[in-house]
Amino acid sequence: MKFIIKDAYHSDHALEVIFSSLRWFFIVLSISVFTVQYIENPVNLKLYFFISLVVFGVLYMGISDYYLHKSPEGSRMYTLMTKCGPFFDFIAFSALIPLTGGIESPLFPLAYLILLHIAVYWRVKGGVIAAFLFILIYSIIFMIQVSTSHSLINYFSQVFFLLLIGGLGGIIVSRERKHHSEKNLLVEVANRDYLTNLLNHRSFQECLRKDLDNGKDFYLALTDIDKFKSINDQYGHVMGDKVLRQIGSIFTSIIPVKQGKVFRYGGEEFAIILYSNEQFEVNKLLVEVKQAVAMQTFYCEGQEFSITMSFGSCKQNGETPDQLVEKVDRLLYEAKDRGRDQIVYSNVG
Ligand code: GH3
Ligand code: MG
Ligand code: MG
Repeated sequence: MKFIIKDAYHSDHALEVIFSSLRWFFIVLSISVFTVQYIENPVNLKLYFFISLVVFGVLYMGISDYYLHKSPEGSRMYTLMTKCGPFFDFIAFSALIPLTGGIESPLFPLAYLILLHIAVYWRVKGGVIAAFLFILIYSIIFMIQVSTSHSLINYFSQVFFLLLIGGLGGIIVSRERKHHSEKNLLVEVANRDYLTNLLNHRSFQECLRKDLDNGKDFYLALTDIDKFKSINDQYGHVMGDKVLRQIGSIFTSIIPVKQGKVFRYGGEEFAIILYSNEQFEVNKLLVEVKQAVAMQTFYCEGQEFSITMSFGSCKQNGETPDQLVEKVDRLLYEAKDRGRDQIVYSNVG
């Protein structure tokens, strides 16, 4: 429970799980309220309506829970089901309140909860529009019922609270979302390399430390462009930057996110963490990257050229981050010493 609440701070999915669990809780609560009222004043027509409403509710909630847990977040059915939730709640509310005491219904505060849910998706505008819809439903129920001065005061105070919750709920959600997206942007900027848009050196150090602390199996590879200084000298630094950017996109297009992470280590050096236990799997990806880089043709003022890269790689074997980087760096320089354009692995561990 603690985890779900913590997740709900930054995940819409966790928030949806809370709302969908609450629906099950409220259906039980509604059955209890209705049963008590029915025992005191049995009206069969109300009973039939209520049973139909419960059946409809259980069906809808079952289907929406299925998609909430089985469909990937962002898929068409997932979005449809989550966004339909507040509409369902509104319809259920409109039917439930007249069946459980009208404007005096103990279930009326459900409107506040539904308004907050609506504000999550449709912010201030959605919250206020929904508040007016609730007021409309509430006013119809109020007019049908025999009104007394007591119920009139009740009516106006509920109308006031509905507007307040719809409007303020929307403002609070919007403020929180703005803050959240600004924070995410800052985190992104702090962790990305400006030129290549790869993860930067800071991310690399953090990721390496975390993966080693967690005892993850992985290969670390360091790779460096061969004779890059001469590219800069011959074609200029602007062209050199273009080459770095292009290499960044070659890396990310070949290495699947689930299998590894690519970082700009610094200058024209890149680090790759590959989550695999098998050297042949790692080699397959590194060879693919090496070949793709070598096959890429660059053009500069009518001249064309290509580049090669050297690689050093080994499997982590309980080293500290610095020890592991030093070890792989030695392998990379061995690749340079052996004539560049090749991959060198460690023979031990
Ligand atoms: P080696 O095969 O031994 O690696 O030779 P190299 O010329 O690549 O090695 P060296 O370390 O001498 O040169 C690296 C060059 O990378 C020098 C520097 O100008 C260039 N470089 C580093 N960062 C950037 C960058 O952000 N943009 C550009 N255009 N060049 C960069
Ligand atoms: Mg180099
Ligand atoms: Mg270098």
